[in-house]
Amino acid sequence: MKSLSILGSTGSIGVSTLEIIAAYPDRFRVAAMTAGRNLELFARQIRQFSPRIASVASMEDVPRLQELCAGINVEIMGGADGLTAAATADEAGMVVAAIVGAAGLTPTAAAVRAGKDIALANKETLVTAGHIFMEMIAHYGVKLYPVDSEHSAVFQSIEGHRSEDISRIILTASGGPFLNTPVEQLTGVTVRDALNHPNWSMGRKITIDSATMMNKGLEVIEARWLFDAAVEKIDVNIHPQSIIHSMVEYVDGCVIAQLGTPDMKAPIAYALSYPERVATGVKPLDLTTFSGLTFFKPDMAKFRCLGLAYRAINDGESMPAVMNAANEIAVEAFLAGRIGFIQIGEIIERTMDAHLAHDLKSIDEVLLADNWGRNKAREFLEAV
Ligand code: NAD
Ligand code: MG
Repeated sequence: MKSLSILGSTGSIGVSTLEIIAAYPDRFRVAAMTAGRNLELFARQIRQFSPRIASVASMEDVPRLQELCAGINVEIMGGADGLTAAATADEAGMVVAAIVGAAGLTPTAAAVRAGKDIALANKETLVTAGHIFMEMIAHYGVKLYPVDSEHSAVFQSIEGHRSEDISRIILTASGGPFLNTPVEQLTGVTVRDALNHPNWSMGRKITIDSATMMNKGLEVIEARWLFDAAVEKIDVNIHPQSIIHSMVEYVDGCVIAQLGTPDMKAPIAYALSYPERVATGVKPLDLTTFSGLTFFKPDMAKFRCLGLAYRAINDGESMPAVMNAANEIAVEAFLAGRIGFIQIGEIIERTMDAHLAHDLKSIDEVLLADNWGRNKAREFLEAV
């Protein structure tokens, strides 16, 4: 029996994770879970999965959650302390890091320090603190399993191979809802258009990141750290059908890819049950129903955010954390209707231009850089 702590149980990844757990009550149990604002759903999850600890992001929500959980044997907590308690719960052998944004960094790092294996959905952890986090993983001797579908695909495609034989990692990208929108029409797209992803159903922030292709940029940085790969060896191919989830090319010219119907339950289940595989209910792939699988290079002029992510990882040090922070602020402003779609990239670029990258030695220093990036991006936002 594997005991899990789920950080961000009410989100898109959190809900899919709980579906898998519910299907395998003999394999998995929930030790702790945390959520943000959706208290009604959270209370239903607590009732169904009986965690020992349940924590909400805001202390103000604790009384309401206690009310909703009346009669259930659970310790209700809140705020940063509750998040840490859930991330480090004694019984948990593995922590599913499924909070969105840099807010996921501190609890995920706490889980590593407490010796927990990590199923990592929160890519922002590696984007902001990559080298520090990977050193922590090695230092505390814990295992790190990717949940992001591309990274799960790479993880599956490198099994049994020597890392020195890898010549290239090819991350695939759907291209999002604006793949075929001419660049000059991007000015007029709405929040609704941007949230309308063709292949994947995900949380709002990552859905906007997919539309700008910042998501792929974050994934390049994630892959750089996860697989200790030079950035020059990580390519992005647009693959609108989202069937090949990523590929690894070897020095002998062989390419190994992982395919499947796009459904996050598959990579989540693999991270949870590794090295075993369990049935997930994901629709079997029938390649004969596709008229073709296509691939091409991304238009870097149109998807400016992808280029910014390459620039950030090439600058290194604090730049990816600052870029990520500016992206979170800009996406939030776009979702709130404060700025247009193309201004997301503009705000990120200005914030990066204003930043002089410097060395980061600890998670606390990453959080300072993150904070700097947020404040600077807010300044540019005010000026819009
Ligand atoms: P989501 O917005 O659907 O869910 C986020 C969860 O985190 C919710 O439970 C929310 O309550 C909680 N949360 C948000 N802010 C918080 C805060 N400040 N403190 C504590 N809890 C907070 O997001 P998602 O789509 O499930 O994505 C989660 C992470 O997984 C992201 O980093 C995303 O990039 C990554 N990811 C998601 C998908 C996907 O298909 N959704 C795929 C690959 C990677
Ligand atoms: Mg992905």
